[in-house]
Amino acid sequence: MTSRTQPRSLSEAATELIHHPYEAPGGFQSVQPGVFKASTVVFEDTAALRSREWKDKTGYTYGLHGTPTTFVLEERLATLEGGRQVLLAPSGLAAIALVGQALLKAGDELLLPDNVYGPSRDFARHELAQWGIGTGFYDPMDAASLAAAITPRTRLVWLEAAGSVTLEFPDLPGLLKVIRQHAQVVAALDNTWGAGLAFNPFDLGVPSANTAQGASDTRGVDLTVHALTKYPSGGGDVLMGAVVTRDERLHLQLKLTHMRLGLGVGLNDVELLLRGLPSMALRYAAHDASTRQIAAWLQTRAEVSRVLHPALADSPGHAHWQACCHGAAGLVSIVFDGARFSAQQVDAFVDALRLFKIGYSWGGPLSLVMPYGLKGMRRFGPLAGQQGTLVRLAVGLEDTTGLIADLEQALAALS
Ligand SMILES: *Cc1c(COP(=O)(O)O)cnc(C)c1O
Repeated sequence: MTSRTQPRSLSEAATELIHHPYEAPGGFQSVQPGVFKASTVVFEDTAALRSREWKDKTGYTYGLHGTPTTFVLEERLATLEGGRQVLLAPSGLAAIALVGQALLKAGDELLLPDNVYGPSRDFARHELAQWGIGTGFYDPMDAASLAAAITPRTRLVWLEAAGSVTLEFPDLPGLLKVIRQHAQVVAALDNTWGAGLAFNPFDLGVPSANTAQGASDTRGVDLTVHALTKYPSGGGDVLMGAVVTRDERLHLQLKLTHMRLGLGVGLNDVELLLRGLPSMALRYAAHDASTRQIAAWLQTRAEVSRVLHPALADSPGHAHWQACCHGAAGLVSIVFDGARFSAQQVDAFVDALRLFKIGYSWGGPLSLVMPYGLKGMRRFGPLAGQQGTLVRLAVGLEDTTGLIADLEQALAALS
């Protein structure tokens, strides 16, 4: 597996994924990876049984620990992001939970950004709390806030870029610089939005404590988590997650917990992901281009008090996004001022949409919409203490002009 230091374009990523090496067994010269399904893997004799090591990929031991098909997907995901090892989980949320369970013990503390993916926060507040693991929150747009929140008990700092729902883009190198002052802390990034395409989370050029002054190594985050459910699948029909690492020891720690929890994935789903990956960069670019057009149009609308999208100059963290990204995914959020529009009026707008369907998740061909009450949603930043409704649009692959027309006719339902 390769590790990159130079960002590569979306089209270079596409070529890399389409030409990713695959050797079919037994001289069968197909380009598409075979789908191998098994619970039991048989051993020729007891010597083979005893010598086979489930932790590495030199052989097979049991379906739960990998088949040739899962190994191919793991390698491709690692290449995509410039990581070295990958663990697959039944959903993005299961991958998030795996990280918490593997790396934290009673007495430890986890720090989450204020705008963390909601179910990630719920997992920390309920499951982790019940196991004696504390959770603190920091302002992702203020490295000093993170510095102040880290204690000797902090073991894991969670990062998300862009932030869930409100799409602020944090200063990742700035936050990592703070984290690197604490050797005991692991930096984890939920990279579902970037999908391994928008930026290189393992190569953020952050000076580490043991790098000579003035020099900088290319160390970025320690691990990333993905909801493969979103862009990698691209079909809206698969649930899967992944944890990507570059460090063998960290990977092994995660893998042991992964094994003990019995986290496995369906091989039909792995096949669908292997099908989705070669077209992902193209789909990502299409979602991105359409979303930027829609975001720019939304900015011209008087009903909308704020448009949140990292590529917009006045969106929070735009400069940070610009410094590391060459993609912006397919999400845009709009804010309706509570003093002008009631939640019922915004609901009427959402209900009036025809192409944007009401539903969770994103990354498939279908455009989706979801309203969120702003009250209590954020404790930091300009949205803290605000009243009103935020509507998140997940832009699909439909004709952009048609999507804008749909938004325009639905905005009329506000009044
Ligand atoms: C969807 C999502 C997840 C969870 O993925 P599932 O496969 O739906 O469990 C995690 N993080 C982010 C940012 C997501 O958008």
